[in-house]
Amino acid sequence: MLRHFTLIFAVAFLLLIGGMAVLAPLLPLHDPVQMDVMSRLGKPSLTYLLGNDEYGRDIFSRIIYGAQASLAVSLSAAVLAAIGGVALGLLGGYFQGWIENITMRPLDVILSFPPMLLALLAVTLLGPGTGTLTVILAILFIPAYARVTYGEVLSVRNLEYVEAARALGHRSGRILLRTVLPNVAGPILVQFSLVVASCIVLESGLSFLGLGVVPPDSSWGLMIRGARPYMHMEPLGLLWPCLALVFTVFSINRLCDFLRDMFDPKASVAAFTLPGMLAGQRLSRTAHAMSRKAEPDSLLQIRDLTTEISTPRGPIRAIDGVTLQVRRGEAVALVGESGSGKSMTGLSVMKLLPRRIGRIASGEIWYSRGEGENARAIDLAPVPASHFRAYRGRDMGMVFQEPMACLNPVYTIGYQLVEAITVHNNVSKAKAEEMALAELKRVGIPDPERRLREYPHQLSGGMRQRVAIAIALCGQPNLLIADEPTTALDVTVQAQILELLEDIRRTSNIGLIFITHNLGVVAEIADRVVVMYCGQVVEEGSVEEIFYSPRHPYTRGLLASVPKPEDLNSGEKRLASIPGTVPSPLALPPGCRFAPRCSYSTEACSVAVPELEVVTESQAARCIRWKEI
Ligand code: ADP
Ligand code: MG
Repeated sequence: MLRHFTLIFAVAFLLLIGGMAVLAPLLPLHDPVQMDVMSRLGKPSLTYLLGNDEYGRDIFSRIIYGAQASLAVSLSAAVLAAIGGVALGLLGGYFQGWIENITMRPLDVILSFPPMLLALLAVTLLGPGTGTLTVILAILFIPAYARVTYGEVLSVRNLEYVEAARALGHRSGRILLRTVLPNVAGPILVQFSLVVASCIVLESGLSFLGLGVVPPDSSWGLMIRGARPYMHMEPLGLLWPCLALVFTVFSINRLCDFLRDMFDPKASVAAFTLPGMLAGQRLSRTAHAMSRKAEPDSLLQIRDLTTEISTPRGPIRAIDGVTLQVRRGEAVALVGESGSGKSMTGLSVMKLLPRRIGRIASGEIWYSRGEGENARAIDLAPVPASHFRAYRGRDMGMVFQEPMACLNPVYTIGYQLVEAITVHNNVSKAKAEEMALAELKRVGIPDPERRLREYPHQLSGGMRQRVAIAIALCGQPNLLIADEPTTALDVTVQAQILELLEDIRRTSNIGLIFITHNLGVVAEIADRVVVMYCGQVVEEGSVEEIFYSPRHPYTRGLLASVPKPEDLNSGEKRLASIPGTVPSPLALPPGCRFAPRCSYSTEACSVAVPELEVVTESQAARCIRWKEI
C-alpha cells in the first residue's frame, strides 16, 4: 500500500515539477533574476509564494527555473553518457581482445579520478557554465553505462541466438544493434534513471561550489549557497531548495526502483560508487537463511524448486517444481536426456546459475549441517549467491564434465591444490603441501610427488578429473555433485572414476548426486535414481525399481536405449531409442510433457500435468497410466 502511495507521489511530483520547468516561460511567474530590494529575505506572501531571497528575488520562480536548469543539465548529461557508455560497452563486450582494451580500460582512469578534481580541471579549461557542467557529468557517468552494458553483453554474447545470428553470416554491427542491444535495454533504462538522480545531486553540489551554473541564473545549488549565510535570519530560504532537491531525488529513485523491478527482477545494478551512494542507491536486499531442526539422516532436501532463466523470448523454467532428497552417504543418480534440467538442478544447489539471467524462482533447498541432536537444516534457496562462498567447498563440492574448466592451465597441480586447501583450512604452507600430497594419493594418482609439480595439460583426461575431484574434496564437503564427470572419458577410465567416487563415498560417508544422461553407468554407483524430463522429475525409485519395474514410459525408453551386452554380441547395432525430440522449454505441450513422444499416451494425457504418484514406499511416477506399464 505504502509502496503504491510512494510511487504515485513520485510520479505526480516529477510530472508537476518537470511540467512547470518546461512551461516556466508561459506561467505567470516573477522574473527569476529581477530583484525587489524592498522585500529582501521576505516571508512567504500572496505575491511571493515562498518568500524572497537575499536579493529580494522570488524564491518560487527561482525554484522552477532552477529545476529547469537542473533537469536540462541532468537529462542531457545522462543521454550523452548513455550514448557513449553503451557504445563502448557494446564494442568492448562483443569484440573483446584489443577492442576491449581501448574501450573499457580508459574508463578505469575516469573511475579513479575524484569527480570534483575532474570538475575543477574542466572548469579551468572550459570556463564555468551549464555546457561545461553537462560535459563533465556526461564523462563522469560514461563508465556506469559502459560497465552495465559490458556485463550484459558478456552474458548474452555466447547464447545460442547470438551464435545463430553469427552463423547466419550477419554483420557484427547488425548483430549488435538488432540482437544484443534489445536484450540489454532493460538494465540500461534502470541505469539511466539512476544517473539522472545522481546528476541532479552532483549538479547542485558543483553549482554550490561555484563550478556549475553561473549567477544570476538560477540553480538549486546556487540557491542553497546564497541562502546559507542568512540561515539564522531566514531559514526558509534554505529549506525550499533543499526540499526541492530531496523530493526530486527521492521521486527519481522511487521510479528507478519500480523500473528495476519491472525490467530486472534479479537486480544488482552495478553500483557506480560515489554518485550511487549520493543518490541513495539501495544495497541489494540480503536474505537471511532460515534454519530448523534437521531430520535424522537427511543431508539435502530439495522441495518444489523452480529455477528460471530469462531468455530474449521470455523466461523459461529450466527446472520446474523439482523435489528430491539425498541422505548422508547416499548416492542419487539424476538421469535424463540433454536439456532435461539436470545441470540446472546441481547449479541451483551450488548457486552457480548463469549470472544475471538465472534465478531461483521458488522452492526450498534444505541442507543439514552438524551431527546427531545438534544437526540443523538451513534453507539455502534464499541465500544470495554472493554470500554462498561460505558453503561452497566446505559443505558441498562440484565436479564437471570437463575438468579443464576448473583447472587453471597456468598453475601447477600442487599450487592449485594448496590454494584450495588453505581456503578451507587454517594451516601453514608446509602442512598444506603435505595435505595436497595426501589428497592426490586419496584420489589414486600414481607418483603424486611428481604430479604436484606438473601442469594440467601434462595430465591425461582421467588424471585431470581425479585432480578436480581432489580439489572439490579439499574442504571436506558432505555433499558432492558430479555433473557428467565421466562423459568426456573413454570407457575404461570411466569405470575407474566411477570406482573412485564410490570409494570416496563409502570411506567419507558423503552424499553424492551423480548426474548423467546414460542410465547404463547408474547401476554401478547409485542407490536411488531420479529421472528428469523437461525440468520435471518424472520418476524416482531405488536402482532395482528403476531397472526392473520402471513405471514411466520415459524411463522405459531410456532403459531401452542402453546398449546391452547381447546386442553388442549379436552384431545388431540398432538401438531402441525414444522417437521424436525434447520439446523447447518455450513451447511445452499441455499436460504430460512426454505425451507427444509416448506410445502409451491417450487424450487424457494432454489435459493436465500429471502428479508424481506414489508407486511404492520408495518409488513414484508422473504418469496417469503407471499401473498399466
Ligand atoms: P541438462 O544438464 O539436463 O542437459 P540443463 O540443466 O543444462 O540440462 O538445461 C535445462 C534447460 O535450461 C534447457 O532447456 C536449456 O535450454 C536451458 N538452459 C541451460 N542453460 C542455459 C543458458 N545459459 N541460457 C538459456 N537457457 C539455458
Ligand atoms: Mg548438463
